[in-house]
Amino acid sequence: MTCRGAPANRHADAIGRYRVRWVRAVVVVLFVCVAATGCVRFPAPPSPPPVAFGVQPTPPGAETDAAREPAPNSETCDATASLRPGPMPVPAQMPQRTTMADILGRGRLIVGLDIGSNLFSFRDPLTGDVQGFDVDIARAIAQAIFDDPNTIEYRVLSSAERTQALIDHSVDVVVKTMSITCDRVDDVAFSSPYYIASQRILSTRTSGIDGPAALAGKRVCSARGATSIGRIQAIQPRARMVTTTTWADCLVMMQQGQVDATTTDDAILAGLAEQDPWVQLVGPSLGEEYYGVGIPKGQDDMVRFVNGVLNELRVSGRWQQMYDHWLSILGPGNGPPQPVYRD
Ligand code: GLU
Repeated sequence: MTCRGAPANRHADAIGRYRVRWVRAVVVVLFVCVAATGCVRFPAPPSPPPVAFGVQPTPPGAETDAAREPAPNSETCDATASLRPGPMPVPAQMPQRTTMADILGRGRLIVGLDIGSNLFSFRDPLTGDVQGFDVDIARAIAQAIFDDPNTIEYRVLSSAERTQALIDHSVDVVVKTMSITCDRVDDVAFSSPYYIASQRILSTRTSGIDGPAALAGKRVCSARGATSIGRIQAIQPRARMVTTTTWADCLVMMQQGQVDATTTDDAILAGLAEQDPWVQLVGPSLGEEYYGVGIPKGQDDMVRFVNGVLNELRVSGRWQQMYDHWLSILGPGNGPPQPVYRD
């Protein structure tokens, strides 16, 4: 038997059907409206600020993640005086029981450097080769050992990893804009200086930052482990340091408005400025940085050998050619630094 229901129930059914139709109509109108015009706006979920790859996030509530560092060259040690080179062996014929003979026997020189430091050590986007001023220094060392400048294995290091890589003997040499300082000579040996840089400031053209006084209260970027941090903290204690893994990270953070300025050696900053015309070097030199080839402590034979290679680069005019090729953006320069030996 089929029950058709009472009139009151039929009335209720009709109301139910109208409700369903009405709700359907509203849904369709809303859908069309949102799809076509975006007329209904929902509040956007809060999005985190963009973070550059490789950048250590700043801890909440603290702008500064850099420990206070000693100012470089504030000490009185004579860190830049190195060991006098002896007679240079014939390439590919290293004297037995020397560090160079071990490297020759292994078949490659292991060089610690960065591959993101424009002008000093960076990967050429067209050829894929690592090149730059530091790379040319490393190639000259390989040439002197193997009679072949290409016999190199590169290990990529951040500024903060350089000293430990030498202590661990995971590299034969570090050639990475590494300043010779009294702190560092406690742990590693250095060649004679092969380049003298000056610490300066990089800021955007519209920032109004024109020197260290203008950095009070500003966010200032440096790579962890760099001497640049200690010096700027000594000169402008009110700078709010933000530290990154690489110098390229500092440029990205400036581009994203996450920091107001970057400070380090003019040679590195010039390499960043070359990649973005919106940033510029400003203010005076904040102090000199003497770059040396880092060598594991105790390898005096290797120190003398590398100093012999650097000497050859100086007297042959090759150093000047390298400068003109890579660093002429910094002006004519003062020629290669003259070595001072302590023996
Ligand atoms: N020359 C400075 C240093 O050795 C900065 C360069 C760098 O970190 O690569 O710390």
